[in-house]
Amino acid sequence: MTHDELRPLLGAYAAGALAESAAEAVRAHLASGCTECLHDIFSRPVGLPRGGGDESSRTATEPPHDEAERHAVHAPPPAPVRRGRRWGLAVTIVVLALALATFASWTIYDLREREAARHAEAVRLAARVSELEAARAELATRVDGLAHDREAARDEATRQAEAVRATAEENASLTAELEAARGRIATLTRGVQRRDSEIAQLVTGVDEQRAVHDLAATPGVELVRLKPIAPVADAGGHVLWHPARDTILLYAFDLPPLPEGNHYRVRLRLGDGRVEDGPVFRPGPRGDVALPIRLTGGAAHLREVQVVRDSTAEPVLAGQTRPLPSS
Ligand SMILES: [Zn+2]
Repeated sequence: MTHDELRPLLGAYAAGALAESAAEAVRAHLASGCTECLHDIFSRPVGLPRGGGDESSRTATEPPHDEAERHAVHAPPPAPVRRGRRWGLAVTIVVLALALATFASWTIYDLREREAARHAEAVRLAARVSELEAARAELATRVDGLAHDREAARDEATRQAEAVRATAEENASLTAELEAARGRIATLTRGVQRRDSEIAQLVTGVDEQRAVHDLAATPGVELVRLKPIAPVADAGGHVLWHPARDTILLYAFDLPPLPEGNHYRVRLRLGDGRVEDGPVFRPGPRGDVALPIRLTGGAAHLREVQVVRDSTAEPVLAGQTRPLPSS
């Protein structure tokens, strides 16, 4: 039965007027610790019937129900109800004892539950603590490992920096050696080129001497006179010429001195009217020169030889091998 279903029975129960099955239900409810019902039971004058419950047990001398309640503690009950009150008191004591026992066992159960929960929590916390301790130890190990790795990396970096510096020094030394070697090669190359040039000049000189010798030995060689051209008056010279040879020899003397850096040039007028530039030269200290001149098309077409100032093209000497066609 529920609390609400039992509420109306409490008065009859306190009066000991309930049937045994209903009284058992009320006792079970009280034993469950319902404080409201317990308070209700304690606040009732035990043994008195509640209004309408059992009219037959009420005597004519009893005051009305409410009045009896009001005076239950202070006024001694009338004699005919004493036996019923004692019975109700016994019931109440039993109920209280049951309630106390229930409360005590519930309290013990609750305490055991809490103790078990606390123990479980302590076990769990201990496990967590040892877990954390293990994790801390592992972390400490890893930190040690990392510190070791960092030291190793630092050593390696130092070694590499040292190696780089050594390599740089070696490179600088090699570069300096390479530069020195290049300098020596350049010097040797210049020497070889100078030697080549000297050899070429010697070969050329030998060829010219042979050509001049051949020219001079050729029967019918002609000597062309070079005459000064005004305003030059003192200079003179000759050209050794043969139409079957490709080399002529120019010899000149008393050429006017030239400013520093200036030259004379030989100009060759040919039979077809063309004018070719010959070699340039600076005369010797007495204004003299002996110059073999090679003619690419042979000497047969040569009509006139001139010596001109190279800077102004002003003629100084001139001589004709054959009379010029129109002039
Ligand atoms: Zn209740």
